[in-house]
Amino acid sequence: MSRVASLLTTKRRAFAVLFTLALAGAGTAYWVGTGPEDLSQYPSANQSPYRLPWTVGQSYRCAQSNRGIVSHRGPGRFAYDFAMPVGTEVRAARGGAVVFVIVSHDGHGLRRPNNRLVIRHEDGTLGHYLHLKKGGSRVKVGDLVKQGQVLAASGHVGRSMIPHLHFHVTDSSRKSTLPITFSDVGKDAGIPRMFKTYTSGNVQPYPRAEQTKTRWQRSGVWWLGAESNRRHKDFQSSALPTELPSQHSVIKPGTTSCGKA
Ligand SMILES: [Zn+2]
Repeated sequence: MSRVASLLTTKRRAFAVLFTLALAGAGTAYWVGTGPEDLSQYPSANQSPYRLPWTVGQSYRCAQSNRGIVSHRGPGRFAYDFAMPVGTEVRAARGGAVVFVIVSHDGHGLRRPNNRLVIRHEDGTLGHYLHLKKGGSRVKVGDLVKQGQVLAASGHVGRSMIPHLHFHVTDSSRKSTLPITFSDVGKDAGIPRMFKTYTSGNVQPYPRAEQTKTRWQRSGVWWLGAESNRRHKDFQSSALPTELPSQHSVIKPGTTSCGKA
């Protein structure tokens, strides 16, 4: 082998080593710098009022969790992205009052406006559902919705790289996202993690008193079941907020990108 050829081989080897080191460094930075941190700030999943916002039994991948790679940083760090085909039924992660709906936009890109639906929960917090399909809302401002109720069709609108649903919760000031868990996520401390797939358990909850009843009693097949259903309805309506804020006092239009709270 000539001297020049040997030098080239050495250079290539050095490049290969450096490249591998850089990849390993980037990989380490990725694992350390993304995903949920300090799990003690998250409420316990057992008592979480949230369930995954799609139909029970269906499974979707978490495309981006808290502190993501392309967004979900700073004030938006507690957001979740779930990859799902356009048109998937989005269901209420938690019940409340519909305070904002915009589904008039179409198309995706860095500067494309977003579609968004917002639910005000009984404790004043707000659940935000983004990237919805154009014209895909099944509810309107002022509606009271129960957990598990269909809200909209998912989409691929606004600052969106793949068809997905973005979900996050804020307090009433909307300044920052809040750490939340999902009671139907039985692993990972109730906090969906990037690239992992989760199956929804988002079914209508029964009031505590009803949980001790048998399945027959709850089914409504005989009169005890009917009585149980009546009380269940009473519970549902009493659990919902009674006063509705005007949509403009809560939501400022324009803050529609994926990463923003
Ligand atoms: Zn997102």
